[in-house]
Amino acid sequence: MFENKELTDIAELGEFGLIKHLTDNFKIRHETSIKGIGDDAAVLNFGEKEVLISTDLLLEGIHFDLAYVPLMHLGYKAVQVNLSDIYAMNGIATQITVSIGLSSKFPLEAVEEIYKGIELACNKFNIDLIGGDTSASKQGLVISVTSIGYADKKDVTYRNGAEEGDLLCVSGDLGGAYLGLQILEREKLVYLENPNIQPDLEGKDYIIERQLKPEGRRDIVDLLAQMDIKPTSMIDVSDGLASEILHICEQSEKGCNLYEEKIPIDPVTYETARELGLDPTICALSGGEDYELLFTIKQSDYPKLKNDVDISVIGHITDKNSGCKMISKSNVVHTITAQGWTAFKG
Ligand code: ADP
Ligand code: MG
Repeated sequence: MFENKELTDIAELGEFGLIKHLTDNFKIRHETSIKGIGDDAAVLNFGEKEVLISTDLLLEGIHFDLAYVPLMHLGYKAVQVNLSDIYAMNGIATQITVSIGLSSKFPLEAVEEIYKGIELACNKFNIDLIGGDTSASKQGLVISVTSIGYADKKDVTYRNGAEEGDLLCVSGDLGGAYLGLQILEREKLVYLENPNIQPDLEGKDYIIERQLKPEGRRDIVDLLAQMDIKPTSMIDVSDGLASEILHICEQSEKGCNLYEEKIPIDPVTYETARELGLDPTICALSGGEDYELLFTIKQSDYPKLKNDVDISVIGHITDKNSGCKMISKSNVVHTITAQGWTAFKG
């Protein structure tokens, strides 16, 4: 991507110069951020609120492949996936720290791209960048994001609050990010065999965007508050619907019935799965990286959200002894297993 540009060696700026260069544009927007970048530690004050903190570590070659992930998208996604964990607690994210490890193959322009993505996410989701760390790395790129947020004590939603009879709900649609990844991997192989062939991504915009540019569902947190619904439990879908349902059921000591026909799957996701010889339902159950919110609500709250097209009721909570079951479209009962992401990795 930098073929025609003059590149700048990071060593020219030095560590402090680099940090200043990368973070100068970021402004502070929250009163809770008392002190951001520039001292030994950031200072936050949340008064009476419960404070939520979450961290993710992303390693090149393990969590992302720079052969098809643009650096700006990488910065954006690194922030999004982390904010998603705060939203999954029914909280509002307000600050992040970003730590990066850079190998010598990265010029300043590459790191600038990553920070453009970080800035985009901060602007869109109203987040203060309040610090981080910068280091050389022997090999590859490392990014770690920590996000901080808050909620009123009464609003914080854990994984363990589901009760028998509660409805199991999910936002958006599932399986798209996984199929986007399959298409990107396929085109990478084609490219490696013949660099002259242009990637064939036609008609796949939606799922490629789901993979490269996921959006944390802060809008769902706001929507639930507006509808005056406090979910009884909640989790974000990072590893696949099956794995997340099992987390809720295990921690709540409950079972569930999930109805296959209710699982929301976008038509592009569905068709792509078929094209690749995959079962769309398995992609939704085990694909991962959709970053939707999976939550349970009391039945009495159902009328408040039943007309919302962005939320699907996909099942209900049962007692622990009934186990976690999926009722298929042909009415066969399957036990849900935690294949998560590993199902496809062999
Ligand atoms: P220290 O030596 O105390 O670790 P640093 O020189 O690493 O301090 O960092 C100076 C300031 O810049 C701190 O406020 C730190 O949080 C911030 N910072 C360092 N690296 C990054 C980065 N990659 N992104 C954002 N802020 C950073
Ligand atoms: Mg440091």
